[in-house]
Amino acid sequence: MGVAYKNSETPFNTTLADQRLYIQISNHLFSSVRVAVTLKGFELEREGVKMTSSETLTFMELAIHQAKLALDVLEVPVGCVIVEDGKVIASGRNRTTETRNATRHAEMEAVDVLLVQWQKNGLSMSEVAENFSNCSLYVTCEPCIMCASVLSILGIKEVFYGCSNDKFGGCGSILSLHLSNSTPLNNEVSSGKSFKCTGGIMASEAVLLFRTFYEQGNPNAPKPHRSLAPQA
Ligand SMILES: [Zn+2]
Repeated sequence: MGVAYKNSETPFNTTLADQRLYIQISNHLFSSVRVAVTLKGFELEREGVKMTSSETLTFMELAIHQAKLALDVLEVPVGCVIVEDGKVIASGRNRTTETRNATRHAEMEAVDVLLVQWQKNGLSMSEVAENFSNCSLYVTCEPCIMCASVLSILGIKEVFYGCSNDKFGGCGSILSLHLSNSTPLNNEVSSGKSFKCTGGIMASEAVLLFRTFYEQGNPNAPKPHRSLAPQA
């Protein structure tokens, strides 16, 4: 648990009794709980409180498990699960190396499980859309621009992610595709719907997996054109 102490910005015309010392508490459960200590006692400031439910953590742990499966087979460790009515209905992990296909991200894997299944069951386009509107995605890393765009077009209800994706993130880091408007581009193709997005859930665990992956050496990284060793 990280605890940060910060003196408040106390206006000059307040009395000593009004001065407050803020204690910021953060861990997996509390992203932003602020406790104000005053001479009158303690107050728990609810403003900005964002509590992560145990259910959210449970599903993110399952996503982390998927990421570990990816790590075990030397794939970039990203994993996800899709949840409907409190049940996991699909899971996926990054398979870009195995498939030699750069688009096989964890989210695409999980989405395709459902699309194949629903197609087999003979669901119509509108029924598929209705189903996705009841689904939440839990993924260890912020969806990239491609995945965020797909999730928006499919009309997913909500996304929870672990660490941010500073290079390709489509949910706030580079683009904010989760805030897309719902105006169709034409009669057939939707430009996507906005969806609720919450990041920073078990982010340190997700980052640790990336660190482990890159420290062990990425065997699939492009080989340098020239030898890095000093030439004799
Ligand atoms: Zn992606």
